[in-house]
Amino acid sequence: MKRYTEMSADELKDQKAALAAEYEKMKASGLNLDMSRGKPDAGQLKISRGLLDAVDSKTLTVTENGIECANYAPLDGIPEAKRLMAGLLMVEEDEVFVGGNSSLNLMHDVMAFCLLFCLPGCEKPWIKQGEVKFICPAPGYDRHFAVTEHLGFTMLPVPMKSDGPDLDAAEELMRDPSVKGMWCVPKYSNPQGITCSDGVIKRFAAMKPAARDFRFFFDNAYAVHDLYGDERDELIPILAEFKKQGSGQYAFIFSSTSKITFPGGGIAAIGAAKENMDFIKKHMSMQTIGYDKINQLRHVRYFKDMNGIKQHMKKHAAAMRPKFDTVINTFQSELSGCGIASWNKPSGGYFISFDAMPGTARRAVDLCKGAGLTITPAGATHPYGSDPDDKTIRIAPSFPGVAELEKAAKLLCVSVKLAAVEKLLENK
Ligand code: PMP
Repeated sequence: MKRYTEMSADELKDQKAALAAEYEKMKASGLNLDMSRGKPDAGQLKISRGLLDAVDSKTLTVTENGIECANYAPLDGIPEAKRLMAGLLMVEEDEVFVGGNSSLNLMHDVMAFCLLFCLPGCEKPWIKQGEVKFICPAPGYDRHFAVTEHLGFTMLPVPMKSDGPDLDAAEELMRDPSVKGMWCVPKYSNPQGITCSDGVIKRFAAMKPAARDFRFFFDNAYAVHDLYGDERDELIPILAEFKKQGSGQYAFIFSSTSKITFPGGGIAAIGAAKENMDFIKKHMSMQTIGYDKINQLRHVRYFKDMNGIKQHMKKHAAAMRPKFDTVINTFQSELSGCGIASWNKPSGGYFISFDAMPGTARRAVDLCKGAGLTITPAGATHPYGSDPDDKTIRIAPSFPGVAELEKAAKLLCVSVKLAAVEKLLENK
């Protein structure tokens, strides 16, 4: 197939007519699909049903050190849940705070604490220091950007590279003391599925931000979400690396079991070095006496340990692999050689990131919508919903079935091609 960019105006017009006819046919088939958010399907939820039997009215709800989970205390979680989450966060047990059902909730709260209260060893909370800014690798997770904007930060995008965020760009920005922090999804990032290399993590740990009260927010939401067993990415323990380099105070690590057991019904946790942990506990103790320890106990009894989580994740991988393969094979067969699109093939995580021809992502997503397919809005992968190249589209293949996904991926391909042809004709 000839590359679209090499076609004459007449050839492009012919392509456009053929694609428009194909699009209308798909539209008439009455699709009604939603690929907009990374949600597990019913089959994946079933994998974790046994969790609901792990604690019942006949089982004791007492922890290994005699805490009654049906009552108040302790604030930072039961010991066995701290141990389990220490494995996910790759930190020591005493560096864990186990929270409620959502890591995003914990990220929001920690960010709000840093805004309102003095971080250890610092004189003023962020909010009393005038304009505050946050480094946001992009493409990234839309809800990180939403929290950051909502709490009043100016967001500073930095590009993603194949081994993590562009740290040259980040280092340049953090010379400014009003830059207070940086997001990073270190493993199987949302949406590109990129894992930070050992070198990138070591460089993070060696960075010297101008602000003493700077904090990295590492969101390790996809810590155990390998899709292809042997081809899995490995992440080195982040907090340990920071501590080795004497910069442990700069890192917060977050994770949850949302994409392991039940989204919105799992357990979430923070990993942090001692002074940061004391800071978190001090302020958290004002908003809650403690989180849901019965759910913590349920998770511990169900998984037992990290090995239990890893075995469980093999079942998720078996459910997810055909979905990722379907989407990627469809892209391959429909788009190879057109020269207008590229996509990643992640080894894990929940998303595929797709790059349409610059200037056409919005139009392609609108075309999909017009034919019954909802995708994450173009631009959502960038701060302020604004992708400067208008090219990134986030694909969330977990929810639809394989047959539906094939139709959805085909419709996306036709829409991307149509949008590209329209754009190329405009410029002729
Ligand atoms: N972080 C990332 C990177 C995510 O993709 C998601 C879910 N889409 C979350 C956090 C949300 O996690 P939780 O349910 O624990 O709030």
